[in-house]
Amino acid sequence: MEEAATAASACTLCAPHLPLGPRPIHQLHARARILITSQAPGTKAHLSGIPFEDASGERLRDWLGLGRDIFYDPTKLAILPMGLCYPGRLPRGGDCPPRPECAPLWHPRVLPRFTDLRLRLLVGSYAVRFVLGTKVPLSQRVARYAEALPAHFPLPHPSWRTLVWAKRNPWFDAEVIPALRREVERALAD
Ligand code: SF4
Repeated sequence: MEEAATAASACTLCAPHLPLGPRPIHQLHARARILITSQAPGTKAHLSGIPFEDASGERLRDWLGLGRDIFYDPTKLAILPMGLCYPGRLPRGGDCPPRPECAPLWHPRVLPRFTDLRLRLLVGSYAVRFVLGTKVPLSQRVARYAEALPAHFPLPHPSWRTLVWAKRNPWFDAEVIPALRREVERALAD
């Protein structure tokens, strides 16, 4: 895993498309039990080099029922986004999609190196579509999370927009979050 992680950290493949330049961000260890496949780092993560070091990260840790100690322990939890570098801003606001070159390049090189992976969290529509396909809309995928178990757990991106969505879909907090915490606990149990 170390070799793949070092190679990913040195990647500059889509440098001409990255307004702040390449800074691949991941958290990888062969013995990780849980893998988060998220979208792409934001500007805060780009500057700090730490994934989910923002309000979205706080929300995600709350959903998972995990403190920072376990979340940032690479032997327990790995993070491999769909795009490892900050992709820039859209003219109408919001971040650009993850660079399309990234996941097809790095996921096949990294995934086989996990030795005890028990659960992959697919966070946001790009990760959900890449792994589970495009036929089912994200809300339905999340509502029918049990169909993806035990290997995958589809989730919305933990941005502030999801708070509005969750208010309209109260089953998310009532049913999906407790199930998610159970699966996380199962994956981390010895
Ligand atoms: S986004 Fe991915 S493919 Fe592009 S430079 Fe960063 S690590 Fe390489």
